[in-house]
Order: sequence, then C-alpha cells, then structure tokens
Amino acid sequence: MVDTFYLHLEFTGKNGWSINLPFLCTKCGTCCTLEDFLTAGKINAKPEEHPKVHAKLKALFEELGKMWEADESKYETYTMHNPCPFLVKNSCTIYEIRPDGCRLFPKTAFGMQSQDCEPLTRFRKMCAALKKGRTHTGTYYFTGKTMGSAKCDEPIKPSKFTQKQYQACVAKLRQAGMTDDELTLFNDFNGQNKSCVRTC
Ligand code: SF4
Ligand code: SF4
Repeated sequence: MVDTFYLHLEFTGKNGWSINLPFLCTKCGTCCTLEDFLTAGKINAKPEEHPKVHAKLKALFEELGKMWEADESKYETYTMHNPCPFLVKNSCTIYEIRPDGCRLFPKTAFGMQSQDCEPLTRFRKMCAALKKGRTHTGTYYFTGKTMGSAKCDEPIKPSKFTQKQYQACVAKLRQAGMTDDELTLFNDFNGQNKSCVRTC
C-alpha cells in the first residue's frame, strides 16, 4: 500500500517538455494478500512503542518457522492462501507503522512485475501511451504523502509543457483508462489545480 510515486518523463527535441505521471493506490488491499508481506521488512516502530504488534509478529514468525521445518509444502500453502494478519476489512490496521516494503509497493523490483494491482496495470498502459513514438527519459520519484498535504516530504519535480501538449496527454491517458481520481492527482502533480499558477 503505497501513498504515491510518480514518473517524471522528459521528452527531448527542439522544444523539450516534461510531464509527471503519478500512481494512485486505491488501498484495495490486494497486495496485502500476496505472500510477500512476510518479506516486506520490519515494522516502523520499536517494541516498547507497539508491544502488541511486535508480540503478534513474533508469534506468527515462530509458528511459520515451525511449519517450515515440519512441512515445507504446508508452509507454502499457508503463505499463498493467508493474507497479512494486519489486514482487516481490506484495511491495514498498522498503516502508520507498516514496513517499508508495504509503503513502497508496487514501486519495488517485485512489485513492478505484479499483475495483481489494477492501478499498476493502468499505470503501465498510461506510461506506454505517453511514451509511444517519443524520445524520452524517465525518472521515478517517491513521495510518502499525497499531494495537497502541507507536509509533503519533497517538492514535486516541476513539469514543463504547453496547454496543447497537456490536453493531448490527458486525451491519451483517458484513452488508456485513467480514472477521475487519477486525473485529479495528475492535475495536482502537474500544477494544474486551481491554486497553482503556471506560465506556459
Ligand atoms: S494492490 Fe495496488 S492499489 Fe491495491 S493496495 Fe496494493 S498498491 Fe494499492
Ligand atoms: S502490514 Fe499493512 S500494508 Fe503491509 S501487508 Fe500487512 S496489511 Fe498490508
């Protein structure tokens, strides 16, 4: 469950321009049902701060360790068919202290290959639509906060385009399946919301 990452695309040529394409996690919880929650890393809290969470994890790892030693295939079946124990009603009950692997997913080597995250499938299509036939470079950035938050960790990389280029991008992205919520975030990440002033 990531907050947001985005791809900053730069198109080279006589009049170079650029655009930010953000990923919008819908918090559907699907990635929390994948077996890799076990390798998502340590939770972001000390044992004394969240003793119950640490105790639950300790008990789970001990149980899984015994299961692995007794019967490897039983362990594999368990991890394949059981969601993360902190997922309740499709919601992470330790969201603020979830492991870094959870925070970054799907922007991880494993995550970017995933076929289980619907917004990621759309994101890939949208990337392809923007890049098609254009010489470009692309850089990914991660932000732990969604746009609109005053506590945004780092400023979003400025993008540069004409309104004609922007509208052409929106049309391509819509064709690729961009949702209304994703369009709102796209506008935010490219300074196209009402509170932003652009000169181009
Ligand atoms: S599967 Fe994708 S959209 Fe769903 S919670 Fe995970 S990262 Fe978010
Ligand atoms: S800790 Fe939270 S975000 Fe991570 S897999 Fe479990 S429910 Fe999902």
